Amino acid sequence: MQAEHPAQRYGKVYVLRIGHRPERDKRITTHVGLVARAFGANGFILADVCDDHVMSSLKKVLERWGGAMDLLCGVSGKSYVREWKKGGGEVIHLTMYGLHVDDVIESIRSSPKPKLIVVGAEKVPPFYYEEATYNVAIGNQPHSEVAALAIFLDRLYRGEELRLEFPNAKVKIIPSARGKKVVSLEKHPK
Ligand code: SAM
Repeated sequence: MQAEHPAQRYGKVYVLRIGHRPERDKRITTHVGLVARAFGANGFILADVCDDHVMSSLKKVLERWGGAMDLLCGVSGKSYVREWKKGGGEVIHLTMYGLHVDDVIESIRSSPKPKLIVVGAEKVPPFYYEEATYNVAIGNQPHSEVAALAIFLDRLYRGEELRLEFPNAKVKIIPSARGKKVVSLEKHPK
């Protein structure tokens, strides 16, 4: 039996990546998308730009390892935030200047409203601080959008997301104490 997706209890969760610079952020933005998927988000939006390298890497992982995450790129980040709020959703901007995650996570979790998690790159425009329903710090020290997103989602879902089974996966890992065990889930005709 497949585990219930935590989003069924905590509402839809999308990740909005802003400030992506195709010439230098391909790897880290891909990692933001991979964390979004692996840690239970339902959507990943690359704002203001499309980067085929990032989007095709994420699509390949979804095809092989499963999952039903929505992918979108090139939409205006600011318009996306405004529309999300108009549609009744909340915006959670991850920033080291925000409120400590432990002081707001209960209130975020207890709301059934869709959640848009915004993560930045180099310099985040004041718009996102002002429009956010919550500015949330994963500790008040500078680190990384990848770490911040992973820890935020893990706190939101209380660690349950690490047991998620991904629909439509072609392969699956069998946890082993040593070595690598990967099984194919594809149905081969007899
Ligand atoms: N100095 C930049 C700014 O204007 O906010 C932050 C740059 S940081 C390399 C890139 C992103 O990582 C930030 O936009 C934020 O989303 C995330 N981040 C880094 N440290 C964080 C922390 N302590 N708490 C929450 N998010 C953090």
